[in-house]
Formats: sequence, structure tokens, C-alpha cells
Amino acid sequence: LPAAEVLSERGAVTSLQHGSSYICRRRNNSPTGKPSEHSYGNALDIMGVGFADGSMLAIEPREREGTLEEAFQDAIRAGACLSFTTVLGPGSDAAHANHLHFDIKARNGGFRLCQ
Ligand SMILES: [Zn+2]
Repeated sequence: LPAAEVLSERGAVTSLQHGSSYICRRRNNSPTGKPSEHSYGNALDIMGVGFADGSMLAIEPREREGTLEEAFQDAIRAGACLSFTTVLGPGSDAAHANHLHFDIKARNGGFRLCQ
């Protein structure tokens, strides 16, 4: 995570606080509808990023906060779109307000869902 270098007073990124990885459920924990990519083991939710100084940056709505933390969160989110075909997070919908969801779902025409 080169973006972490801008938060240099916190030190290097040392941990990722993850939520669901492999879990058999439907999208957004809904009782009906399509199976979530989590049910295929193809998805990961990141709840926060830990730094060498012991501090934690939680993923949360930071729109127009105007802080370095907002810029960091935006940077890792945008960077993730290069590696994952689906990136959802705060602002995408209510179910993703407190984490970043990454998965590798294949779509027609190589479409990527980066929100
Ligand atoms: Zn997820």
C-alpha cells in the first residue's frame, strides 16, 4: 500500500482488519436473491487498516471530510479497482457504509464495478 506513505507519522501498514471472506450467504445478507461472491470464496471485506504505531483507520463515510484519512481511504479504494472487478464501500449503498468490499466476479465485456 504505497498510499500509506502519506500517513507516515503512523508508520507502515501492518494489518488489515477483515470482515467476511468465505461465508455462504446471499448478497447483502438478504434472505432472497443472488448468492454473494462471499459464498464462492471470491470476496473480501476490509473494515480497517492498522499501522505500525498501533493506530487503526476504520473504513467509514468520509465524503468531503477534507482529511488525510479521507484521501488515504479514497486512494486504497481506487487502487483496489486495478486488482478487483468489484469494489464497493461507503456511499455505494447502506450495506457497505462501514467496509470496503472487494471481489473478482467476472462480468460480460470485462466490466468492472468500482463505486
Ligand atoms: Zn462483502
